[in-house]
Amino acid sequence: MLKVNLGKTNLSVSKAGMGVLPIGPGQLALPLEEGAEIICHAVRSGINFIDTAQYYRTYPYIKRALAMMASSGQESTRRAADNLIICSKSLAHDYDGMMSAVHEAMAELDRPFIDIFLMHEVRTGGFSERKGAWQALIDARAQGLVHAIGVSTHHVDVTEEMASVPECDVVFPLINYASMGIRRGSGPASCDEMLEAIRACRNAGKGVFTMKAFGGGNLTENYQKSLDYVFSKEEIQSVMIGFGSKSEIDDIVSYLDGTMSADYNPDTSHKKMRINQEDCEGCGSCMKVCASKAIFYNKNGLAEIDQSRCLTCGYCSYACPVRAVIRY
Ligand code: SF4
Ligand code: SF4
Repeated sequence: MLKVNLGKTNLSVSKAGMGVLPIGPGQLALPLEEGAEIICHAVRSGINFIDTAQYYRTYPYIKRALAMMASSGQESTRRAADNLIICSKSLAHDYDGMMSAVHEAMAELDRPFIDIFLMHEVRTGGFSERKGAWQALIDARAQGLVHAIGVSTHHVDVTEEMASVPECDVVFPLINYASMGIRRGSGPASCDEMLEAIRACRNAGKGVFTMKAFGGGNLTENYQKSLDYVFSKEEIQSVMIGFGSKSEIDDIVSYLDGTMSADYNPDTSHKKMRINQEDCEGCGSCMKVCASKAIFYNKNGLAEIDQSRCLTCGYCSYACPVRAVIRY
């Protein structure tokens, strides 16, 4: 798979990366060996870029995959494991929390350093509010604990802001052709606005890789249209895609090497709408658009879907301002 140098980092990453969230306890909760084998399959397929996070609780899968590849009889697999680029991130707001998140990742992944470490999900105004956490990342990089630092964000204004932050090496924003989940302040924003902000980051020398090409699984009916959008933008250096099965990886490989037939669409009929409890803010917008009355407030005051009533129409995902409604 084609590789690109991420900004000025000297990290050479594949055009498609693997997001490991789907295999972990927050989504499919696959057994350790099965999840690790999917990561190995991604690496054997030419993917060398892995995205995880402190709150995904997926470090054990990556560690197991690294061990499996290290003991492989094939030298190419062992070499691929050595060249794996791991990106992790933390929601920590202060210095100690972020520094401890870096050390936790190193310990749980059994690595002497983490290639990329980010402030996770920075919202409008959040970069300056979390300056202690940012200083921890700057110090961690100076100490050789991480090689590159940056932010992940759904916000256009945060992406714009990072273009002028000299210490920021990489930016991991959300973008898809339908503008699903893209924010500016407390309101929605368009993919054109996000692309402009990404361009500003690239012009400033930042590495840029993006998330949610399928809008949290809601755009998979328009599979190739979703991929065409992100892979046709030269400003986007790599696209992180959440994989929960080997066939999903095979599909991306087939798309990127040009062997996918023009009318192919993966079967997503087994996928269900769910509400990510970490992201939901309990605003109730999703409930107002659900004609099936399938969404209710749970005991934590957050939205939850009654699967017996849900028609998987997807209207709720468009209504959610924070992209908490996902399909997997
Ligand atoms: S997908 Fe449709 S039916 Fe299901 S919860 Fe959302 S709005 Fe309601
Ligand atoms: S619209 Fe989104 S944030 Fe609001 S209650 Fe529904 S899932 Fe939660």
